Amino acid sequence: MVGSVVFRKVVIQSHKGEYTAIFNPGAIEQLNDNLDLNAVYIIDSNICKLYANRIDKILSSSRVIIIHASEKNKSLDKMPGYVDELLSLNIKRGEPLIAIGGGIIQDITCFLATTLMRGLSWSFYPTTLLAQVDSCIGSKSSINSGEFKNILGTFLPPKEVFIDVDFLKTLQKPEIFSGLGEMLKVHAINNPESFNLISKSYEKILDDPIIMENFIFNSLSMKKKLIEIDEFDQGLRNVMNYGHSFGHAIESATNYEIPHGVAVTIGMDIANFVAAKLGISNTNTFERMHPVLHKNCKNYRDVHINLDLLLNALSKDKKNSSLQLKLIFPDKSGIIGIGSYDNNDKLKQSIEKYFEIYGITIKKIDPVFNNSMASYEHLLTVAKEAAVKATQALDSMDDISLKYVYDDDFPREMKAEVDIKLNEIILDCLKPSGIPILSEESSGHSKFNNKGLYWLVDPLDGTVNFIRGTAPCAVSIALWLNNQPVFGVISEYPSLRLAWGGSLFGAFIEDKPLHVSVIEDKSQAVLCTGFPSRFEFSKVSINSFLNMTSSFGKVRMLGSASLSLLQVANGSADAYLEEDIMIWDVGAGLAIIEGAGGNIKILPGRFQLSQKIIASNGLIQLE
Ligand code: NAD
Ligand code: ZN
Repeated sequence: MVGSVVFRKVVIQSHKGEYTAIFNPGAIEQLNDNLDLNAVYIIDSNICKLYANRIDKILSSSRVIIIHASEKNKSLDKMPGYVDELLSLNIKRGEPLIAIGGGIIQDITCFLATTLMRGLSWSFYPTTLLAQVDSCIGSKSSINSGEFKNILGTFLPPKEVFIDVDFLKTLQKPEIFSGLGEMLKVHAINNPESFNLISKSYEKILDDPIIMENFIFNSLSMKKKLIEIDEFDQGLRNVMNYGHSFGHAIESATNYEIPHGVAVTIGMDIANFVAAKLGISNTNTFERMHPVLHKNCKNYRDVHINLDLLLNALSKDKKNSSLQLKLIFPDKSGIIGIGSYDNNDKLKQSIEKYFEIYGITIKKIDPVFNNSMASYEHLLTVAKEAAVKATQALDSMDDISLKYVYDDDFPREMKAEVDIKLNEIILDCLKPSGIPILSEESSGHSKFNNKGLYWLVDPLDGTVNFIRGTAPCAVSIALWLNNQPVFGVISEYPSLRLAWGGSLFGAFIEDKPLHVSVIEDKSQAVLCTGFPSRFEFSKVSINSFLNMTSSFGKVRMLGSASLSLLQVANGSADAYLEEDIMIWDVGAGLAIIEGAGGNIKILPGRFQLSQKIIASNGLIQLE
């Protein structure tokens, strides 16, 4: 008989007694095989897709709540819906909640467990690196309200945590760097030697799951020491916020474009730099830590960070006042500690200097926008209303609106009067926002500079389809910030279905969540594409087009870029590629793909104003 395996554990003392984080590969299978009929399972929608076969019994049981992991879904206004769902599952006191997912699923579950019927127990199967190394222990839940992130919260430790590093195999790279950022942080707080050790092993952690697991174990053991002394965050535990004041400010100043732990990584680097400049610590601490911190955020160096917004966010941090900032810096021996510092010009100049030297672009404040989530939600409503109004108007378009017209500003585009009519309706809705509009039908395209926030409008994508009455077409409206989508709305005609989404929101069609497919094999995949409208019918270009398409299982051409992108977002196609397309054709679709969990890439096209667009479910490599 084989002896029973002893799993490593971290045991944590809490106000509710002891609980353990146990390193138990295969814990999820055990959970699946021993279905607890009293429990309610709260599961990340991506985990449901990626691990459907490992949790099949759980998924086919009736007590499952599936949630798309987005910041919006862990906001206060979503809680009543979850409570209703739990009550409709007839949950009673004494019945546990079981969370399977990352920090978002954890926060939602812990918050519900603390508040529903004055306390249910909960257990946790963390599936992201950040949740495994950091959030899974420590008792906290954090919920968003309005534009305030993590402003509400409770303390309730899980009953048990089961860690299986096998889940990390399917994580996207940014999520890995994010978790690594928190690992680097807790090692730095532990002591300079711990940080040096993890720095030396940085590459190996990425390559070897055993080394990864060792460092996760070490990180939890280090965090355990702090939370046992200060479970309720009254003093000592604050040091865990090292890198976070600057990190949160960076997240907020970049609209959460940077994953949390990566922002914290940059935050630690800034803290070390500023501490040296202010004479609080030595330059050698900064220099010792900079190489590995830099490695962990190097993919984000060209993200624009608006210094005004960053400084503004820093003084708004819940721990700070406008005159005094509570900041966590290394001291002269490299030990991380907390102090209060004057919010003065010297501090500001040191931060500015850091950005100057280390290559993050500083931008001036965007006058039309105060950069909050609440404003985005308002603008999303405006865009939805505009799209619906325009599509409804299509129903009453008479023959006259079907005439083609010519545009001297942009002669190669196919245009009809219907485009111009819809454009008027949409622009009337969007103009009050004060945000610049780049529409297919408006002139002055060549002067547009893609800076700050702007609307991207294609009043009717698939005009030819509409005129011939052959196939669907769509109204497409998106909000972009610099060269990145914030959100997009696509209203289909004639079905009148409304799709919308973005990385901050998730993606939906008629309020049903959308998810990209999980196909990895190109030869099994469906590619959506179109001929560039200036396609040269030469041997070279035909061959290159055939090469590109023939590696796929199937190729689809819909004559509408936005509806093609929507196919990728809803998982009925796996990739989209087009060589020369106008940005307004794809603005909304790309946003929705990001919201549905896919990847996008925007490269210059071969003609002025045209783009090469690559988008996929994130598993299929197109370049
Ligand atoms: P997350 O829960 O937002 O998940 C990130 C993405 O990874 C999601 O798209 C999710 O669907 C996907 N995902 C999860 N597991 C996966 C897997 N195994 N394979 C592929 N994809 C997977 O991310 P997170 O970084 O774990 O959590 C961030 C949240 O946690 C933030 O809201 C933050 O405020 C919160 N947080 C809470 C605490 C706490 O103590 N309560 C601490 C730190 C962070
Ligand atoms: Zn953090």
